[in-house]
Amino acid sequence: MTVLRKNLIDGEWLGEAGSRNINPSNTNDVVGEYASAGPEQAKQAIAAAKAAFPAWSRSGPLARHAVLKKTSDEIMARKDEIGRSLAREEGKTLAEGVGETIRAAQLFDFFAGETLRLSGEMVPSVRPGVGVEMTREGVGVVGIITPWNFPIAIPAWKIAPALAYGNTIVFKPAELVPESAWTIVDILHRAGLPKGVLNLVMGKGSVVGQAMLDSPDVNAISFTGSVGTGKRVAAASVEHMRKFQLEMGGKNPLVVLDDADLGTAVDCAINGAYFSTGQRCTASSRLIVAEGIHDRFVDAMKERLDKLVIGDALDAKTQIGPVVDQTQLKQDEDYIAIGRQEGAELAFGGDRLERETPGFYLRPALFLGSTNAMRISREEIFGPVANVIRVKDYDEALSVANDTPFGLTSGICTTSLKHATHFKRNSEAGMVMVNLPTAGVDFHVPFGGRKGSSYGPREQGRYAMEFYTTVKTAYTFAG
Ligand code: ADP
Repeated sequence: MTVLRKNLIDGEWLGEAGSRNINPSNTNDVVGEYASAGPEQAKQAIAAAKAAFPAWSRSGPLARHAVLKKTSDEIMARKDEIGRSLAREEGKTLAEGVGETIRAAQLFDFFAGETLRLSGEMVPSVRPGVGVEMTREGVGVVGIITPWNFPIAIPAWKIAPALAYGNTIVFKPAELVPESAWTIVDILHRAGLPKGVLNLVMGKGSVVGQAMLDSPDVNAISFTGSVGTGKRVAAASVEHMRKFQLEMGGKNPLVVLDDADLGTAVDCAINGAYFSTGQRCTASSRLIVAEGIHDRFVDAMKERLDKLVIGDALDAKTQIGPVVDQTQLKQDEDYIAIGRQEGAELAFGGDRLERETPGFYLRPALFLGSTNAMRISREEIFGPVANVIRVKDYDEALSVANDTPFGLTSGICTTSLKHATHFKRNSEAGMVMVNLPTAGVDFHVPFGGRKGSSYGPREQGRYAMEFYTTVKTAYTFAG
């Protein structure tokens, strides 16, 4: 018997069965049943958030601290159970699921602390006798629209600062991962949030998400997802003159120079390109390798790829879980076919794998002999697929790395301080890694990209304040 998970609207769990969620490691396993909101429920949720805003925005730091801290503590105490459920729902490995859950707990803890560190500024006016205060206030109703690839961490890094700075929320998670979304909302609700402060509206993007975009009562939208939907969020937000923040795709380069430590370079490439089944916007999908190390690097990569354990996400031995669903699997396979048609050499993997249970298993794919002009180098695949682009030297590597419409992360493997420093200064990405995978970031520092990857203020850390608050400048003449 699966339990029906309902939407949370104005403090009440509402809705009837609308959709089922399937385990990608075993398509016979139904994870749960979930209510699917329509436009009316979305409107109710927005109205509830609007009504709850005045009281919550004036609630003071202690009330917000209490809820966020309690949430962090419960997530941490239940990390194994929640991490397992995440792995069952999304297909990332147990270790990745538990790691992501811990990160969500850390994010709530960080923003619990931030409620006690809110500060403003006070300066003398240019007019004698007048004082000027600069303070930050919540923006109002924040719409939070999230993707499936980090089902608990991405909601956490948006919900935690939104609440910490006094906003109320309408949260629409991705259709593929309602269980993780429901779990986090259930914990926050029981931690004592007043009704209407956080509303959960599971359902279709084209219905619930669109209703949020079209509402004049949503004052800000934080979105992570595809470029296409991001552009819709942007257009609708301009129409309503609301704040918006977008995190979209990546086509992240990992440069490997001749002087790199080979073991480090292979670790970075395997982790960055294939862990989490390559389904990270920070994945290293372009491996830009200097000619002096190229052949040794490729041999070592093939050896490591051959040893990777691909299987059921819930098996503790698994290193790479299945692809999230049939649609994504088809997209990965389509790009593998495109890469071959374009003339790249498929040197490893790219074929489907059979396991004990029916699931979306794909052997990680590595292309050689690719150019930066090929579609597999320019378009985000979002699967366990990477391609090696051979370059002459550092200068060519940097120019290829920056020649992309995206700019989320970039990485370089080198033992040269000169090249590492030059790369950090000249890479056109929001996050740059030296001798580290392009994916895998800290929870307490800014996250975000440039060019087609991101729009608006950074997420995470103290920089999150920029999006979730608005500045007020108040003048006082006291005689
Ligand atoms: P992905 O390819 O990662 O699924 P999407 O951009 O399709 O990326 O989805 C990211 C989020 O945006 C999901 O929660 C999805 O339901 C939502 N979404 C999709 N279409 C719309 C839309 N028209 N308006 C608002 N949200 C949408």
